[in-house]
Amino acid sequence: MTAIPPIEPPARLLMGPGPISAYPSVLRAMSSTLVGQYDPFMTQAMNETQELYRQVWATDNDATMLIDGTSRSGIEAALVSLIRPGDRVLVPVFGRFGHLLAEIAERALAEVHTIEVPWGQVVPVSQIEEAIVRVKPTLLALVQGDTSTTMNQPLDEIGAVCAKHGVLFYADATASIAGNEFLADEWGLDAATAGLQKCLGGPSGSAPITLSDRAVEIIRSRTRVEAGIREAGDESASDFIRSNYFDLGMILDYWGPRRLNHHTEATSMLYAARECAAVLLREGRDNVINRHKLAGAAMLAGVQALGLEVFGDVAHKMNNVVAVVIPEGVAGDPARQDMLDDFGIEIGTSFGPLHGKVWRIGTMGYNARKDAVLTTLVALEAVLRRHGASVPIGGGVEAAADIFRAAGASDAPGATGAADTAGAAA
Ligand SMILES: *Cc1c(COP(=O)(O)O)cnc(C)c1O
Repeated sequence: MTAIPPIEPPARLLMGPGPISAYPSVLRAMSSTLVGQYDPFMTQAMNETQELYRQVWATDNDATMLIDGTSRSGIEAALVSLIRPGDRVLVPVFGRFGHLLAEIAERALAEVHTIEVPWGQVVPVSQIEEAIVRVKPTLLALVQGDTSTTMNQPLDEIGAVCAKHGVLFYADATASIAGNEFLADEWGLDAATAGLQKCLGGPSGSAPITLSDRAVEIIRSRTRVEAGIREAGDESASDFIRSNYFDLGMILDYWGPRRLNHHTEATSMLYAARECAAVLLREGRDNVINRHKLAGAAMLAGVQALGLEVFGDVAHKMNNVVAVVIPEGVAGDPARQDMLDDFGIEIGTSFGPLHGKVWRIGTMGYNARKDAVLTTLVALEAVLRRHGASVPIGGGVEAAADIFRAAGASDAPGATGAADTAGAAA
C-alpha cells in the first residue's frame, strides 16, 4: 500500500475578500482536545462563547450563540425562523449578497420586494423608508458590508425607521463585523448574523447570531416539538418553522439553560469561534476596528499610488476591502495567478457585473497588518509591470508606508500580530 502523506497546504497570504489567513491562536485552539457535548467544560465553553459574542455584537441579547455552518447557515436560520409563509419581506440590494437574502427569503415563502441601487453605491435611508411605507413588510433584511462591491451600508438610522413602522430588522454583518463598527442594540437590530472568515480572523464554518427579545418571541411561537426530546404539552406551533436544523427555537433550547439536545455542537469550530472573539476583545473591539481602518487606508493609498483606479463610492467603502479596476491591457486572471504562484499571495476576482473588471484586495483579521499590506503591494507592482502596465517604482509601498508612519503604527497593539502573542502566552 502506498503511503498517504498528511495534508500539507502551501504557505499563503490570503489578501482577498475572504476567506483570510486565520490568527495563529485560532488554529491552535482548533487543535485542542475534544470533550463530550455535556461535559462541564463544554457547557462552560458554550456559555463563555455566548458572553464573548454579546460583546462582539455590542448587545445584551440573551439569545446570542453560534449556528454550525458557514455564514449562509446563519442567514438561513434567521430568515426561515422569522419569516412566516406569505410575509412581506423588503430587501434593499446593493450587491451579490443582497440578492442572496432575497433568494433565501423567497425559499422561506415570503412575498419578497427588493429595491436596488447600482453596484458601488449604498442605499439612502430615505429610499428604504419610502419602500417600507409602500410595501408594509414584516421584515427588512439587508447586508451591512457587501464584499462583492466593497460597500458598507450605514445602519445606524435604519433601526429607528423600522421601529416607527413596526418592522423587524435583520442584517448580515459577515464581511463587516470586527473591521467596521456594528452596534446591535444601539442600532435596533432584531437579528444579525456573521461568519468567522472575514475580519473575525477564523476559518469558515461557524455563524455567530444574535436575536432581540421580539425576534425570540416570534421564533418561540413557531418552534416545533421534536418527539422523544421534549416533555409532552409542548406541541403548540401550527405554522412551525419548516426546517429542523435551522429551527432557532430548538437551537436556543440547546444553548439555553435547558440544554435540550438538537445537533451536536461542532466542538472544534466552537473553540475557533471562542478564540476569534477572545482575540478581538483582548486587543479591544475599537482597537481592532482602527487596525482595519489603518490597514485599509494604507492599501487604498498604495493601489492609488500605483496609478490604479478604485471602484465604487470610496466614502462608503468597508475598511477591510478595496476593489481596484484591472488596468487596460492587463489580463486579470493570469496576473492574479502570478501573484499566487510567484508570491504565495491570493487576491480576489469578482462576481456578476464586475467579473473580469476589478480585483478585490482585502486586509482582514490577522492580515490587517503592515507587513501583509506592504508585501502585497510589492508583489502587485512587480506583477503589474510584468503584465505590461506602467507603474511607478516603489510608489505603492511608499504611499502605504507613509500612512502607517503617520499613524505611528509600529507601536500600535496588534499591528504586528500582538494579539497572537497574547494567545500564545495564555
Ligand atoms: C463572505 C460573505 C458571506 C459568506 O457566506 P458563506 O456561507 O460563509 O460562504 C455571506 N454574506 C456576506 C455579506 C459576505 O460578505
